[in-house]
Amino acid sequence: MTTTATRPQLQYLHDALEELKAKNQYFHLRVLDGEQKPVATFDGKEVINLSSNNYLGLTTHPKLRRAAIDATRKYGVGSGAVRTITGTMKIHMELEEQIARFKKVEACVVFQSGFTANAGTVSAILGKEDLIISDELNHASIIDGCRLSRATIKVFKHKDLADCERVLKETENWAGKKLLITDGVFSMEGDIADLPKLCDLAERFNCIMMVDDAHSSGVLGNRGRGTIDHCGVHGRVDIQVGTLSKAIGAIGGYVCGSKDLIDFLYHRARPFLFSTSHPPSVTATCQAAFELLDSEAGEKLIKKLWANTKFFKNKLKKLGFKTGASETPITPILVGDAGKAFEFSRELFAEGVLAMAIGFPTVPEGKARLRTIVTATHKRADLERAAEIIGRVGSKIGVV
Ligand SMILES: *Cc1c(COP(=O)(O)O)cnc(C)c1O
Repeated sequence: MTTTATRPQLQYLHDALEELKAKNQYFHLRVLDGEQKPVATFDGKEVINLSSNNYLGLTTHPKLRRAAIDATRKYGVGSGAVRTITGTMKIHMELEEQIARFKKVEACVVFQSGFTANAGTVSAILGKEDLIISDELNHASIIDGCRLSRATIKVFKHKDLADCERVLKETENWAGKKLLITDGVFSMEGDIADLPKLCDLAERFNCIMMVDDAHSSGVLGNRGRGTIDHCGVHGRVDIQVGTLSKAIGAIGGYVCGSKDLIDFLYHRARPFLFSTSHPPSVTATCQAAFELLDSEAGEKLIKKLWANTKFFKNKLKKLGFKTGASETPITPILVGDAGKAFEFSRELFAEGVLAMAIGFPTVPEGKARLRTIVTATHKRADLERAAEIIGRVGSKIGVV
């Protein structure tokens, strides 16, 4: 017996895994060998990659690569401490100023990930006397942040403004602070929040307004400024969260808002206070990414992303797949049964297409799906071939 084998104390974990296997919900990690690209090698097999959040192909962009290498040469590989001790480097401050300008807000703070940005912010600004009104499909990091804050959480039906208003009316005389929180683009559906109407409600019922733009920065709005720009609600959203891990191509998250908000997070956001800041390579990569985004080259990439999105969505629709209410490059192929979704995904992989199946707990039980995302760097021929294979396998296993 090796020292790491399961001891009796953890036998229940083994049992739980066996149960997942029995329910056909157990998965192996797909291992990428080489670069994250539209055609890539996973588990030793070359496939068309429809499961990456690398919207603009920036994970392998030469300018970003060079920025990372130059910063490593100049500043080393690590920041050495949390931001509040000695881990704030000049380039950290410069990136935050750059993002704030890009998003047209006063200030910005960068976190280690989008997850910690959400969880760290919600838990810092609210306490147990407060109230959170949250869309039922909000991201897990928002949900965790809400729980950590110990505030009362009221959930409204996905994008249902009447239900949201009902919750707000029922809690009209709430004594504490109120936060209305939504994803800008929903990560499993690919639909866009109705921000103008949600902002109306937030204003009418005196709520703090917060939007998680993880899937829309670099995708929607002028030069990828996100849903706030796309929906024309600049100045009406108190807290904007974004990620540096998706369209931006590296890793990290950020919060944008007023100087006071950011200054407060410096003092109270626990991931900021208790977890080390990004290495110089990551920060320099992100600086190069925003510079690219806010240029004609960036505009071109976003245009290509949307042209590919339209092309691929049309193909799937013609083949008869249900793609839900998606309005963005995130296009779910709805299956329902989790076992069937996993089987669909496995068969596609065997045929040369990577489209990951998503089941419980990422989406509710009975709503399993394949989640596809096209990027700016997919070639038309790849998308055509992927659609052909999806159609063939989908009809073979009875999804269409
Ligand atoms: C991916 C995602 C996050 C987390 O971002 P990371 O930078 O990967 O931690 C947060 N919110 C939403 C809506 C996301 O899709």
